[in-house]
Amino acid sequence: MNRNGEPSFRDSVDLMFNRAVRLMDLSPGLEQKIRVCNSTYTVRFGVRLRGKIETFTGYRSVHSEHMEPVKGGIRYALSVNQDEVEALAALMTYKCALVETPFGGSKGGLCIDPRAWDEHELEQITRRFAYELIKRDLIHPAQNVPAPDMGTGEREMAWIADQYMRMNTTDINGRACVTGKPPHAGGIQGRVEATGRGVQYALQEFFRHPEDMAKAGLTGGLEGKRVIVQGLGNVGYHAAKFLSEEDGCKITAIIERDGGLQSDTGLDVEDVRQWMMKQGTIKGYPSAAFTENGAPLLEGECDILIPAAMEGVIHQGNAANIKAPLIIEAANGPITFGADEILREKGVVIIPDMYANAGGVTVSYFEWVKNLSHIRFGRMQRRAEEARSRLLVEELERLSADQHLGWTLSPDFKEKFLTGSDELALVRSGLDDTMRTAYQAMREIWHGRGDVDDLRTAAYIVSIGRVAQSYRSKGL
Ligand code: GLU
Repeated sequence: MNRNGEPSFRDSVDLMFNRAVRLMDLSPGLEQKIRVCNSTYTVRFGVRLRGKIETFTGYRSVHSEHMEPVKGGIRYALSVNQDEVEALAALMTYKCALVETPFGGSKGGLCIDPRAWDEHELEQITRRFAYELIKRDLIHPAQNVPAPDMGTGEREMAWIADQYMRMNTTDINGRACVTGKPPHAGGIQGRVEATGRGVQYALQEFFRHPEDMAKAGLTGGLEGKRVIVQGLGNVGYHAAKFLSEEDGCKITAIIERDGGLQSDTGLDVEDVRQWMMKQGTIKGYPSAAFTENGAPLLEGECDILIPAAMEGVIHQGNAANIKAPLIIEAANGPITFGADEILREKGVVIIPDMYANAGGVTVSYFEWVKNLSHIRFGRMQRRAEEARSRLLVEELERLSADQHLGWTLSPDFKEKFLTGSDELALVRSGLDDTMRTAYQAMREIWHGRGDVDDLRTAAYIVSIGRVAQSYRSKGL
């Protein structure tokens, strides 16, 4: 139980699992095998900092090894604890199965306030934590591949990769030991934006289905839809930016840890983010109304609510007041089990975390494949693609001239058609395809059987079915 008398995060995930598994035909033994977390390694290590030894506590939890390597981010936050890491590891199992990335589920965390330490100190702490995990194969290209999560990013992943390679100098696949690295250190284009981009693609796919929109009482397209975003970190920022700049959504509120901004005409996401990066807060942002207490803004009138920060922000205490007809969970576990029941009762459509935020691990998968194949995507085919397109354009132009047809191809078309796909274009295409395919799988269950009336249960049924299949084929 947590402070509000609600189940803990891990229990909440298990309760959602149980709700779905009741509708499936699994043996109780297999059901139990899938639900439980296989192992959690706790490490306490000391680092000499500012003249004294500081002790840190970290975790790496492995939920399911039905496929290896296992995959999942490493979080840096003071709130990190074993229950949370295990819940997040379980969600990774289901997420990877849903979007068909060939991984089991894992997650790591370090109890630390990353803002309390300078860059050099963070590097020492990260390398020491990585050392503890590497020597136990809890970071390994074939066994366990971490990635960024809350409080970590490209910089930490580069340190981890370097630490692994220092300890495994002859491993030719060393760089694949972690994903989310900067492009110059073996990363891939489009990984930083990937989770937010995935949220955008998920919403685009949802809005392709009038029947699904009708369940939320929505009509039309994304254009003009009012969106409230909670958390302007990497995920919330990219999702809000793409939705407003590319799909015509209006971001009517942004909620951050130190308050909220509101604007009925729509916030300029890039401008708010620039302000926040410079000032360290959204307070004082000149072009919108600011309120110290941001939490009530979650309950504001809007078409789409995007919780993109922490778990448990929509709980039994505020779920009944939520007015959004559609919630897309960009964060992991932002809606507690109790809140989920209340929202379902109210007819709110929830696009669940294990699908909505799967863009990150999907592009991590592409990065891992890139590292193992030792070649950037598009390197072999890009110019060949351009040459074929050029042949066609030149032939059309020749025909037009020979036959005096007077055709001219618009310069915009020509430029687009003649540009071969680079790595970023391929990553986006692979991600878009993944999000569409996974949505279809959930949708089939949602609409195809009479006993499933929400996307979360549908997502669990798809994922658990795939994990079960994989265990069965191993003879379990
Ligand atoms: N931490 C991210 C997540 O929760 C990414 C995991 C990964 O790329 O392995 O999905």
